[in-house]
Amino acid sequence: MRAASPFPDMNKKGPLMIDRSRYDENNPLDMHNLQFDIAAQRLDLEPWIAEKIKHPRREFVVRFPLRRDDGRIELLSGYRVQHNTLRGPAKGGLRYHPNVDLNEVRALAGWMTWKCAVVNIPFGGAKGGVTCDPSTMSQHEIERLTRRYIWELSPIIGPDSDIPAPDVNTNPQVMAWIVDTYSVFKGYTCPSVVTGKPIEIGGSLGRLKATSRGAIFTLREAAKVLNIDLASSTAVIQGYGNVGYHAAQLMEELGVKIIAMSDSKGGILSHKGLNSSEAYEHRQRTGSVSDFREADNITNAELLELPCDILVPAALEGAITRENAAKIEAKVIVEGANGPTSPFADDILYDNGSFVIPDILANAGGVTVSYFEWVQNGQKLFWTEEDVYKRLDKIMKTAFQEVYDISARERVNMRTAAYLLGVGRVAKAKRLRGIFP
Ligand code: NAD
Repeated sequence: MRAASPFPDMNKKGPLMIDRSRYDENNPLDMHNLQFDIAAQRLDLEPWIAEKIKHPRREFVVRFPLRRDDGRIELLSGYRVQHNTLRGPAKGGLRYHPNVDLNEVRALAGWMTWKCAVVNIPFGGAKGGVTCDPSTMSQHEIERLTRRYIWELSPIIGPDSDIPAPDVNTNPQVMAWIVDTYSVFKGYTCPSVVTGKPIEIGGSLGRLKATSRGAIFTLREAAKVLNIDLASSTAVIQGYGNVGYHAAQLMEELGVKIIAMSDSKGGILSHKGLNSSEAYEHRQRTGSVSDFREADNITNAELLELPCDILVPAALEGAITRENAAKIEAKVIVEGANGPTSPFADDILYDNGSFVIPDILANAGGVTVSYFEWVQNGQKLFWTEEDVYKRLDKIMKTAFQEVYDISARERVNMRTAAYLLGVGRVAKAKRLRGIFP
């Protein structure tokens, strides 16, 4: 069921009606739309502006063949959604996963728009993906898939129009193939078509850990306002990939004890604490964190409900819903993942006193350092890692404070506060730019 527009008349303001029963909690796009509608209602947006900026500006769907190593040909579906370009070029990652579909990509693209606006960087929002299962593919197959998908996308991406980056199951190597493929298409080397690429071909120092580092900067700020001593805190991490692993490492540096972590195959728990690097090596060696020595195996559902101070969802959408929200005991939830918590769960967590640092704030460090990479590429010079982190810290600290102040002033949860900030900025850009012709 698709939620109808809450605006009875596009040309008349209010009353904006939100019928929550019409939004499906299992549908990431409905969850994006509900988060947006809550903010649009509070901001009292002009209905035509709200309808314009809520939905994607452009959508690109491709179907292309992949030759597998054994000679078989498979047909794959790929997507790129440019949600918004009012404040700058479209920006957002590429996901390779069996669950990728147009609906999910639309939601992820929308979240990028609000995220870039929350941290006030001059980008719009986009996302892309290919429906595939990389765990069954060789590196050669992933390379061929990437090159063909990017060739199809070449007319609509570019350093000043739409700049992809890594997301689930894509990494700096995939970005390197994208640079190469797009450069062949253009006829000259064009590193700034993507961010998150290897340092050797124009990547930025600090990009690999940027999402997690940004998240930990927001956790540090939250700990200050909530009077939490991080050095005596415990943390649980769902999803042990790029974001989850680096978040674990950075929390360890602050003295946080990591008691549980998981990946798609299951989780592990040790009240004595888990060593993040050893668990990562175990996962690299065996394909999962499960069966790690001196830890008990647990399910992903059990993991989310463990008593702890900090919970970092760093896997996929839909982890915290009205089904399990009441059982979550974490004091602070730092959303490394995009869309892990539904608005229905948000209400339960808020009433129970859990402090959620929402995705469009918590994981904005990745796109912020992507922005730094793009700026460095444009200037043809490179910043030191120290410089990158100092600038990132400043941006994350400012964004946290702005969102926190709105949340206190408007008496809303941190997610709605972040949307009021992000959506408000994009709406303002629309008002200023007006309508063509
Ligand atoms: P990744 O592919 O490196 O890691 C994903 C991890 O999640 C893997 O360990 C995988 O096994 C695990 N996982 C998948 N399904 C799971 C499930 N149902 N339960 C538990 N674990 C599961 O991806 P990543 O780059 O770390 O991204 C993780 C999340 O962070 C995504 O939501 C992504 O959109 C978001 N994010 C990533 C970046 C970035 O810079 N990479 C930036 C912002 C947000």
